[in-house]
Amino acid sequence: MEERRVALITGASRGIGKKVAEKFAKEGYNLVINYVAESNLEKIEQELKNASNNQIEILFVKADVTDFTACENMVKKAIEKFGKIDVLVNNAGITKDNLIMRMKEEDFDKVIQVNLKGTFNVSKTVIPYMMKKRYGKIVSIASVVGISGNAGQCNYAASKAGIIGFTKSIAKELASRNILANCIAPGFIATDMTAVLSDDVKEKINEQIPLKKMGTPEEVANAVYFLANEENTYITGQVLNVDGGMIM
Ligand code: NAP
Repeated sequence: MEERRVALITGASRGIGKKVAEKFAKEGYNLVINYVAESNLEKIEQELKNASNNQIEILFVKADVTDFTACENMVKKAIEKFGKIDVLVNNAGITKDNLIMRMKEEDFDKVIQVNLKGTFNVSKTVIPYMMKKRYGKIVSIASVVGISGNAGQCNYAASKAGIIGFTKSIAKELASRNILANCIAPGFIATDMTAVLSDDVKEKINEQIPLKKMGTPEEVANAVYFLANEENTYITGQVLNVDGGMIM
């Protein structure tokens, strides 16, 4: 039997990351599931095993993506267990929204640390192993607001624009090693991150979306898989919007 592919997904305990993990489980990938605070790991493990018909192996690693040493240790554990990482999905992310006039310096720094520096930390530690195998797919979750900007989200939009610039740069650096790097830019997706918005705000946002509804984490997961699976051999350095037509 052919060796299973291995995918490491950051922030895979909830929301989009969890659905990405389920998609890769269904497709038969062994998984490295990163999280920072989640405690319900047994339930998540069972759900992922079920999605794969009990075919795959799963390694859970608690690591804060802002901590470079913790990321190195996470990747070491993954390599000890599986010997390689074929796919990295940089998904862990947070918001701390406010207008710039009210935004605290620490809230700007924290969002950049988790979203952008976290993407650097995990990519930097995974890439040497991909280079050795001359194979790798890196998909980082940006956001449409990294392209359009958004009032009340200057920290978050800057972090996501940063992820896009980061991805295009590493795509150029790593293409010769057969490592492809792309971004997904989700629009407005139903997860814990957006559950905090009032129904009124949600309705107003939906009006701006040509498809007139929020997206689902599954819809994002399918797009991640499209860019990360073996059949993608010629798309790199791109940003794929999954946003119901919000940004054109
Ligand atoms: P979510 O439901 O809030 O889940 C966030 C995930 O990130 C959780 O698994 C959380 O782990 C993890 N995480 C947070 N801080 C971390 C850290 N320091 N180290 C490691 N893991 C960390 O968010 P989501 O909506 O699924 O968002 C996932 C990604 O999509 C984010 O990058 C977000 O910016 C992006 N995105 C979301 C939307 C949307 O509308 N939802 C739109 C555009 C882009 P714990 O469970 O352990 O806390």
